[in-house]
Amino acid sequence: MDRLAIVVPCYNEEEVLKIASKALREVLCDLAAKNKIAPDSFILFVNDGSRDRTWELIEEEHRLYPEQVRGVKLAGNVGHQLALTAGLLTAMERSDVTVSIDADLQDDVAVIEEMIDKFHQGSDIVYGVRKERKSDTFFKRTTAQAFYKLMALMGVRTVYNHADFRLMSKRAVEHFSRFKETNLFLRGMMPLIGYQTDSVYYDRKERVAGESKYPLKKMLALAFNGISSFSVKPISMILGMGLFIIICSMLAAIYALISYFTGSVVPGWTSLILSIWFLGGLQLMAIGMVGQYIGKIYMEVKQRPRYNIEKILECDSLVKEQETQDEL
Ligand code: UDP
Ligand code: MG
Repeated sequence: MDRLAIVVPCYNEEEVLKIASKALREVLCDLAAKNKIAPDSFILFVNDGSRDRTWELIEEEHRLYPEQVRGVKLAGNVGHQLALTAGLLTAMERSDVTVSIDADLQDDVAVIEEMIDKFHQGSDIVYGVRKERKSDTFFKRTTAQAFYKLMALMGVRTVYNHADFRLMSKRAVEHFSRFKETNLFLRGMMPLIGYQTDSVYYDRKERVAGESKYPLKKMLALAFNGISSFSVKPISMILGMGLFIIICSMLAAIYALISYFTGSVVPGWTSLILSIWFLGGLQLMAIGMVGQYIGKIYMEVKQRPRYNIEKILECDSLVKEQETQDEL
């Protein structure tokens, strides 16, 4: 039987912690009773440097339910994505499958069972995808949609309407742990892992209590991070713009020369306007070219794993040969 770890990043979540703990413990009991997960499955709360009583509450829950509730205390606030990563990597060594979910219970805990079913059917990553954004404000809905479109335009693969509510098998988390980058955007990284994936659909609810820990400023930072960590397209755009302006400068040259010969210009205007157009385009293009190299260096320094081998078919004799070679 597979041991499940539910990973919950928490930042100043004292109002919801007990409620979340109760709801998730019920899910664990239910799934264990149905023989879908091991009875020693657990919840792993990650305290992301909260300034309220979140950690004290996690300790208390652990005292009350030592088997089911565990905790990780980060020394300071590192943000949702890193806190979640810390939780996933800690859970990786202690479980066979993980589900990550926010502490505020906006995501439907009832579909965890469906996620586990899909996992048993062979999927390594199961995305929680929200059906409709009815509970969101008009502003949040449109900005979110614009964000997904922009990501697609920049060539970043993401799952539409999926945030960080997802199931990952142990081997998926293990491959994820080989990504050493610090500027994390987990949603963009998942498709790079590979393996069979699936989705479950749910309605996103209102926060149970407390208020959002993601103000507009943090959301914009996440969006920018998502694009800049996965795409060097903006650099190519600069290069393209430079080329475009050089073409414009040629048209401007024709116009300026015609004006010059028809004699309707102030002396000095022709050479000046030509230089401005041409040099402007040249400079933009040069910046774009330098940028191409910087973009490549950026991708190299991340040292991302280049592939993920799922299976190797070979016969035993070959394996033995390899081993003796290794010994030599
Ligand atoms: N969170 C975190 N560190 C932060 C900010 C948020 O661990 O610096 C956690 C938070 O406790 C919650 C999750 O990330 O479990 C999502 O935050 P929230 O629900 O406030 O975001 P929203 O749903 O409003 O986008
Ligand atoms: Mg939330």
